[in-house]
Amino acid sequence: MKIGIVGLGLIGGSLAIDLHALGHTVLASSRRASTCQQAIAQGIVTDASPDLSLLTAAEVVFLCTPLGAIEATFNQLAPHLSPDTIVTDVGSVKQPIVAAIAPRWVNFVGGHPMAGTAESGLDAAQPQLFAGNPYVLTPIATTPPQALSTVSEVVRSLQSQLYQCPPADHDRAVAWISHLPVMLSASLLTACIAEPDQSVLELAKKLASSGFRDTSRVGGGNPELGMMMAQSNQLELLRCLELYRQSLEQTIHSIQQQNWPALEAQLNQTQHARPEFIKRPPA
Ligand code: NAP
Repeated sequence: MKIGIVGLGLIGGSLAIDLHALGHTVLASSRRASTCQQAIAQGIVTDASPDLSLLTAAEVVFLCTPLGAIEATFNQLAPHLSPDTIVTDVGSVKQPIVAAIAPRWVNFVGGHPMAGTAESGLDAAQPQLFAGNPYVLTPIATTPPQALSTVSEVVRSLQSQLYQCPPADHDRAVAWISHLPVMLSASLLTACIAEPDQSVLELAKKLASSGFRDTSRVGGGNPELGMMMAQSNQLELLRCLELYRQSLEQTIHSIQQQNWPALEAQLNQTQHARPEFIKRPPA
């Protein structure tokens, strides 16, 4: 298959590595000529150029630019494509992208690979990034079945766990498992560094171990990513934060009232619930 990729960063570059290795013709475009030359030199693409007309021959195109640039990328790319070309994207929030592109490109299938690292750019790209991880497609009523099945086939070939859901369900679910944790973790760090006793704060820094490392990891990451989550999924994130606030107040109440049975019941419930979120079905 002739596959186009726009935006050779962590996700676009990782897609290029796997799809080229699978024997596809990979035609890529990235903003900087140096990135395109690097991809050619690494042998992870068939050809690459900042000129989007290179993708005219592509049968399926993956839009892999930053979330805020995906719609603009599509606008620039569309005049170079035949209407038969299937376009998909990898953006982490789906409703705004699907709403912007689907009415203008019938062969559009929204997508989101649930895989990544803290790094960005082509140097961070790696083989098998998607293998064993969920990859969500968000078709809508007007999505042609043929476009959906073609993108599904490519996604399955990456050894991803393929899921399908409406864009709104996707955004609500990722608010719970991705965007809310970033805000909670950031709030944890904010509260912690506000400890007024400097000597206690310094001691806490020295004593911090695996528990703090786990709970602070996503809040201590790239600020741009957190901003993107809050701005692009604002309503779903606020809904989750509100429900979280209720849960936190319940926990505070149990501790204030020394209602140990209530706290114990809550902790038993969460102990049983966690594995449901982190288990993976076999590949
Ligand atoms: P990234 O590593 O920063 O790669 C994006 C690449 O696009 C950049 O390397 C850059 O290439 C090019 N680019 C940057 N700004 C651009 C612009 N304004 N217009 C056109 N091209 C531009 O980002 P990423 O982590 O791969 O994320 C790409 C997409 O994947 C995002 O939409 C994100 O929501 C989604 N996603 C990310 C993750 C994750 O964990 N990172 C996971 C799932 C989905 P040049 O070198 O040519 O400038």
